[in-house]
Amino acid sequence: MKTTWTDICVNLTNKRFDKDREEVINQAVEADVKRMLVTGTNLEHSRQAVKLANAYPDHLKATAGCHPHDAKEMTAASWVALEELIRSPEVVTVGECGLDFDRNFSPADVQLEVFERQIQLAIKYQKPLLLHERSAHDAMLSLLQKYREQLTTLVIHCFTGTREQVKRYIELDIYIGVTGWVCDERRNHDLLDALNDIPLNRLMVETDAPYLTPRNLKPKPKNGRNLPSVVPHIGKELASHYQVSPSELQSITTQNSIDCFNWPL
Ligand SMILES: [Zn+2]
Repeated sequence: MKTTWTDICVNLTNKRFDKDREEVINQAVEADVKRMLVTGTNLEHSRQAVKLANAYPDHLKATAGCHPHDAKEMTAASWVALEELIRSPEVVTVGECGLDFDRNFSPADVQLEVFERQIQLAIKYQKPLLLHERSAHDAMLSLLQKYREQLTTLVIHCFTGTREQVKRYIELDIYIGVTGWVCDERRNHDLLDALNDIPLNRLMVETDAPYLTPRNLKPKPKNGRNLPSVVPHIGKELASHYQVSPSELQSITTQNSIDCFNWPL
């Protein structure tokens, strides 16, 4: 595996991939996206993510965690099971976890509690954190500051915030994941501005598929479903912003994923 893109956040356990999951993975590999991090967003999806990583050991790794939307579902039993998953070798990071005060599908106090507990698990097993943050920058930052010294590496996935916010994350030595949001000229202004403060050695690429299909993708995928094979399209957009070649951006962002997740080629 000499060259490859790395998709650091793809929801391959989503039911929209039930009919053709294998084909989607094969297509991605053919598009030179040979490394995909399959996101676990609750106990059941984390279990499925680990299973999938076991079935495709050359291409997939998994995350195990509880998304803020699902925070209210956590029980004593599910914590035990989740911790067991976090310990498994296919799981290279704890998450997707964090805070989402935009939609508040779980109450804010429950989100904070469930997030802090996952931070503590990441510390206990010395694994990275894959973070989700919407409308909760200050609360996220204060928790990360509190624990930063004890944590290993961290990545904010699907960053769409401002230059000021990204500066504070970079100060904490956090990696930043960028999705096809950057290809949406209607709403990418803050993000394009923030890229000026994201050094290349902190940047990673992700699709967040099946969500967030790049708006300028041609031809449009069937049913508007995003795919991990779209990573090179996002990478090209980022390369032009950073004024490097797509292949340079590919090797830099893949190297960052090797370093961040301790996930060798
Ligand atoms: Zn997310």
